[in-house]
Amino acid sequence: MDFSAEHLLNDIAIRTAMREALRESQPGTKHPTEQGGFIVRDATTLRPVVRRLSVGQADSFQIPLCPDGRFHAEQIIGSFHTHPNIGPEWQEEPSRQDIRLVTEYPETVGAIHFVIGPAQTYSITTDGTVCVLGKTDDVLQIDPEDKS
Ligand SMILES: [Zn+2]
Repeated sequence: MDFSAEHLLNDIAIRTAMREALRESQPGTKHPTEQGGFIVRDATTLRPVVRRLSVGQADSFQIPLCPDGRFHAEQIIGSFHTHPNIGPEWQEEPSRQDIRLVTEYPETVGAIHFVIGPAQTYSITTDGTVCVLGKTDDVLQIDPEDKS
């Protein structure tokens, strides 16, 4: 079964995990860190769930290669990382390395990779297509009250 971006983002557990990742990235602070994880199929419920990966650097995020399409035995559906850096010297949209990761390692990233910035959320699909999914506040349904 394939999961579309829309299908995955309609899942409250996934949106919540992505929101947490973005918040923990501390965008706009002095010490932002990229965060991310895999969206896998839970072995028991078969529902898509997020498995977070260890914290990245201020401006990069490492995804472990999973050539068999599994992370700890769970099937990888998709993946994501955050781009918390904002300012004139940063681009929020997916970097060339991000796109290369997705096109060269489709087994690792799954069918879709999300890049979540404080302003906008993007998707990269395995043919290298980048889409703007919309404002992150809308895509992840962030309540203005829990932004603090
Ligand atoms: Zn990136």
